[in-house]
Amino acid sequence: MKVTDILANNKEKTLVSFEILPPLKGKSIDSITKVLDPLMEFQPPFIDVTYHREEFEYKQTAEGYFEKVAVRKRPGTVGICAAIKYRYNVEAVPHFLCGGFSKEETENSLIDLGFLGIQNILALRGDARKLEKKFVPEPDGHPFALDLVQQINDMNCGKYLDNDLINPVKTDFCIGVAGYPEKHFEAANYEQDLMYLKEKIDAGGDYIVTQMFFDNKAYFKFVEDCKNIGINVPIIPGIKPITKLGQLNSIPSAFFINLPEELVKEAKKCKDDAEVKELGIEWCINQSKELVKFGVPCLHYYTMGDVKTISRICKELV
Ligand code: FAD
Repeated sequence: MKVTDILANNKEKTLVSFEILPPLKGKSIDSITKVLDPLMEFQPPFIDVTYHREEFEYKQTAEGYFEKVAVRKRPGTVGICAAIKYRYNVEAVPHFLCGGFSKEETENSLIDLGFLGIQNILALRGDARKLEKKFVPEPDGHPFALDLVQQINDMNCGKYLDNDLINPVKTDFCIGVAGYPEKHFEAANYEQDLMYLKEKIDAGGDYIVTQMFFDNKAYFKFVEDCKNIGINVPIIPGIKPITKLGQLNSIPSAFFINLPEELVKEAKKCKDDAEVKELGIEWCINQSKELVKFGVPCLHYYTMGDVKTISRICKELV
């Protein structure tokens, strides 16, 4: 079922969904089921699986030189999605990037997803690779998520790259896109970023999942601002708890978001990470409850593999 239909059919209670990472290369799928089995108690209607393109690393050769090599540490997004769908009978949403794909590779991967019965895709641009200063698309790839949304939407209309296909089937993907309540870090300003978001929706985006935020006011404003420029699709809030003191620095620098003064002040009073985790859980529960009151369609938790913490938060909501 499409994410948008799931949301439309569930007006009474707030749903919860989860984002998980594929296992590190060499690990078995058990590392995923260990995370998901306990979360099934919360009846997530869909689960997102992140996509991790290759990264550059310097590795030492036998001769002692260092050479730049491309490594993919977490392959398997599509395989994990298929496994989730068939093991749990829950919709799996693969994250799909512009980065690393030509248009043709994108088309072929979309055909695979269709064959696997995967109906939902979160269409993203992706970031610059480690050791690269800015995002570089493949020579025949997409520079922005907008272009990827357009390609998926074209296939939904039966338009493939090859014009000679006879009666090509129309795919039927529901397309999610990313939104940034505190602005994407590359955008010139918040308003410009919103206009680009609107372009993604106008091109066929069906729903938005937000970047994580720790101050609900940012989300409430974002929803209002989206409405005011004519974005009328569901906006799913993505949240996670802080669990370590070091995240006061690492989260803002990795995700380009702010941490509220009160949260930072309280975290600094904690004597160790265990106390920070308790604070983070309490903060996230309060955030979740306020979002439920606001009437969000679904709470989307970035699990980062920490099933115990996320379970504790979800238990407080039932
Ligand atoms: P875009 O929408 O293309 O925007 C990128 C930048 O370009 C923005 O600053 C925007 O304002 C600007 N822009 C957009 N359109 C135009 C245009 N036409 N002309 C000029 N500028 C434009 N990354 C991963 O690698 N794997 C994942 O699984 C993953 N999952 C994510 C899930 C969520 C919910 C979110 C919020 C992010 C996720 N990311 C993931 C990170 C994401 O790839 C990065 O934030 C990336 O830098 C931007 O992706 P985007 O799809 O928002 O890009």
